[in-house]
Amino acid sequence: MANPSLLILAGDGIGPEVMAEVRKVIDWFGANRNLAFDVSEDLIGGAAYDAHGVPLSDETMARAQEVDAVLLGAVGGPDYDNLDFSLKPERGLLRIRKEMDLYANLRPAQCFDALADFSSLKPEVVGGLDVMIVRELTSGVYFGEPRGIHKEGNERVGINTQRYTESEIARVARSAFELARRRDNRVCSMEKANVMESGVLWREVVTEVHAAEYSDVELSHMYADAGAMQLTRWPKQFDVIVTDNLFGDLLSDLAAMLTGSLGMLPSASLGAPMANGRPKALYEPVHGSAPDIMGQGKANPIACILSFAMALRYSFDQGDEATRLEKAVEAVLADGLRTADLIGEEGRSPVSTSEMGDAIIAKLAESV
Ligand code: NAD
Repeated sequence: MANPSLLILAGDGIGPEVMAEVRKVIDWFGANRNLAFDVSEDLIGGAAYDAHGVPLSDETMARAQEVDAVLLGAVGGPDYDNLDFSLKPERGLLRIRKEMDLYANLRPAQCFDALADFSSLKPEVVGGLDVMIVRELTSGVYFGEPRGIHKEGNERVGINTQRYTESEIARVARSAFELARRRDNRVCSMEKANVMESGVLWREVVTEVHAAEYSDVELSHMYADAGAMQLTRWPKQFDVIVTDNLFGDLLSDLAAMLTGSLGMLPSASLGAPMANGRPKALYEPVHGSAPDIMGQGKANPIACILSFAMALRYSFDQGDEATRLEKAVEAVLADGLRTADLIGEEGRSPVSTSEMGDAIIAKLAESV
């Protein structure tokens, strides 16, 4: 059987620097775990603009539609700030997300014990935390019509419309239930069914999909405002949270920051299953291209490496290997290694991007 295919789009700024460490990890799995990938690399963002005059070429877009998963670094930078809006690096990212129709955005809030002191919450509240927020990404109030600002009598009125179809709710609910089966088998669905009709429909459809297809998964419902409170009070009560675009935007930022640095946060965006049963998928760190530290060996590669761990688990059914990689990251942190972004008041000396990558590879090697 052919190896699974991966398209790497490293992008701009620290994107290529952190992706170089992911390449080491991919190569390690190929050489040591009988898990080889057909890896191709291409350009996105400012790098694509420099080469082709557009932030994402049609050829690259077509390639992204064909592969089993896309791994993205980051895009953007000051050199491109004055470009026309349609040519800005971020447009490349928006295009790929839209054309792949990635409707389920996965943001884990995972706290390694060694970094629990970094959180604004008490270490016992966040230590060992592992919550996955699934946010609907392509519909809801950010897209609904009518929208706009118009005049009514003497004053201006701003309008946005929360709109969800049954099928939009059902497909993201399925993504959440599928993920839960690979984790602790629990889903909490959040909406505001007490005050919004779209929330009533959301709750009904999630309940129906659950009853028809996923009754082995534990399902609960919570109003999104209560969910925000519970996430800060005792986040470890959750496994997978599924929610709409707006609430997911807020709740995923809230949950992610429970755990510390931007340099640690991976993400995935999933779409419909392809012919081979794998979902369309794009994996990327949450952080941007960090032009302020680019080229200095200061970037933390862990967010990007953990994004690859998500790919192993959610695109390639390699949950055990994903756990191996996450444990290697955890072990390196437990040994006290820190990139500059993870140094608090303790006065440690930071390691470089490549030293962090090498240390993770060394822990992987110890694990077999
Ligand atoms: P940013 O995430 O690039 O950086 C914010 C801060 O976090 C900076 O101080 C940076 O040094 C630090 N940081 C980020 N990632 C880090 C890492 N891996 N290791 C250590 N420190 C890290 O956000 P920004 O400064 O607002 O934006 C910079 C550029 O990135 C802009 O052009 C923006 O449009 C773009 N951006 C791209 C994406 C993306 O590609 N998904 C996301 C956000 C911002």
